[in-house]
Amino acid sequence: MKQNRKSIILGVTGGIGSGKSTVSSILKELGAVVIDADVISREVVEPGKLALEELTQEFGKDILDDWGQLKRKELAALVFNDENKLRVLNSIVHKYVAKKIKENVEEQLLKQTKVIVIDAPIPIKNGFLDLCDEVWTVFSLMEVRIERIMKRNGMTYEEAVSRIQSQISDEEYLSIANKVINNNADVKLLRKEVEIQFARLLR
Ligand code: ADP
Repeated sequence: MKQNRKSIILGVTGGIGSGKSTVSSILKELGAVVIDADVISREVVEPGKLALEELTQEFGKDILDDWGQLKRKELAALVFNDENKLRVLNSIVHKYVAKKIKENVEEQLLKQTKVIVIDAPIPIKNGFLDLCDEVWTVFSLMEVRIERIMKRNGMTYEEAVSRIQSQISDEEYLSIANKVINNNADVKLLRKEVEIQFARLLR
């Protein structure tokens, strides 16, 4: 896929509150096409979609409401503290998300889109790392992230910490990065850094 093509596939990842979505929206303004794994992960579990069917087979009809919509809280409670169930849930959802990401990337490759961004909070191997020419990890210090999440999501300090801890560690995010985008100062500085790195990609 990488040979003889005009497009660059850029992966953007980072933990909650790091500023990953802000980086993606700057990239979009600069002309990149952004494929948002979060949006896709919600779409694949809509009523009538294969992922939801598979989840219902695995976890039972109680995870659906009267309209056939996924009851996220019930499902989360079901897998809470059960590593096996969580693994099954993730493998089902990731499979469909990866498939959809690949389809969207193929579509953009056909259009010869210059920069295709895959924005994904979970840097899975299949459907993210294997597709990307380059990966950026957006990185912010723990206290900065906690403050942003509390403000954005109206969470308490403890809730924000627990959300951060439910994700992979900083070390893991940093270990897969070809480029670390530090975001501990203001958005103006972040934009400048993204512009510099975007220009490098296009050179
Ligand atoms: P993520 O997608 O990594 O969870 P977001 O890009 O949504 O993070 O950023 C989290 C929150 O912090 C948002 O409300 C965003 O507007 C804000 N934010 C991001 N970067 C900065 C920054 N450099 N300075 C101040 N606020 C920021």
